Amino acid sequence: MKAVCWHGANDVRVDTVPDPKILNPRDAIVKITSTAICGSDLHIYNGYIPTMQKGDILGHEFMGEIVELGSNVKHVKVGDRVVVPFTISCGNCFFCNRDLWSLCDNSNPNAWMVEKQMGYSPSGLFGYSHLFGGYAGGQAEYARVPFADVGLFKIPDGLTDEQVLFLTDIFPTGYMAAENCNIKTGDIVAVWGCGPVGQFAIKSAYLLGAERVIAIDRILERLQMAKEYGKAEILNYEEVDVGEALKEMTGGRGPDACIDAVGMEAHGTDLMSFYDQAKQAVRLETDRPTALRQVIVSCSKGGHVSIPGVYGGFIDKVPMGAAMNKGLTFKMGQTHVHKYLKPLLEHIQNGEIDPTFIISHRLPIEEAPHGYEIFKHKKDNCTKVVLKP
Ligand SMILES: [Zn+2]
Ligand SMILES: [Zn+2]
Repeated sequence: MKAVCWHGANDVRVDTVPDPKILNPRDAIVKITSTAICGSDLHIYNGYIPTMQKGDILGHEFMGEIVELGSNVKHVKVGDRVVVPFTISCGNCFFCNRDLWSLCDNSNPNAWMVEKQMGYSPSGLFGYSHLFGGYAGGQAEYARVPFADVGLFKIPDGLTDEQVLFLTDIFPTGYMAAENCNIKTGDIVAVWGCGPVGQFAIKSAYLLGAERVIAIDRILERLQMAKEYGKAEILNYEEVDVGEALKEMTGGRGPDACIDAVGMEAHGTDLMSFYDQAKQAVRLETDRPTALRQVIVSCSKGGHVSIPGVYGGFIDKVPMGAAMNKGLTFKMGQTHVHKYLKPLLEHIQNGEIDPTFIISHRLPIEEAPHGYEIFKHKKDNCTKVVLKP
């Protein structure tokens, strides 16, 4: 089959590789009909995620049709059209039983590698390095889905691929980011980063009762999208002092909740962001927390900080004193996709949200290298690339 394979930083290729096989009675093989490139795939593309190996198949946002099932999968059948959460979860462990699906104890065969750095391992992830299980991803013609009895969600008739594809990650991720803000009626929520997750966080904040959402970025098309589709007020951090602007816009109190939808490769204009660039370049710091610092300092006293942006390792100069003394609440994590998938599918069915607004490019899978390149450099107004195998 054809698959998008990682060969090194800024080097992905469409290779011909062996088809996946059923390895376990709870597996399924899915013939992929649509798959997307995620902002977090760019961290791999840019070479910041360790334990990638040449030839690893990328991709964790995919859907398709079941073509083969292990003997223990009962609730779906061959021919069903399904979406696949990016987190791999067993459905039986302590954490899955508490709806903390992305913290599954049984899906990362390389947990020992993560435990050295993090103490305990989160769940395995599709197409996201050997640290997170070494699973082949879904930017391919076929993929093996483990724990298929809990990891496949059947899609009702009448919905297109593009309407439901983002249930695999970015819509639930944006939604959980907003839910982690503990939004109360009348709240003002600020969102750093107007990429796909930021856009869904903006929409979700309103769904959850926010009165105002303020979106922060520097890419004009993305700010425009936040304004037009998200109904957010917008700030360009290259033009204004974000902290001062937010103070002014919130009557001097600061936003009630702040979302860091940027993560480890933040850009900035202050001295500290150049310090991060330099330290990350020589690998003295794994992540650049420019947005996170602003989030903490800008947030209202007693406010909520929500972090859907991906961090991989260690960050410097985080204003912990501000966080502690202002009494901030932090919530973060990989998304518990299994928990959100059905309720969010209902929002789509009810017409409350149409996730297709985010798509800027539709490409055949052969053009994946071009897709990565334009998405990375935000060329050609690229906000989201859907690949068709
Ligand atoms: Zn993703
Ligand atoms: Zn589990």
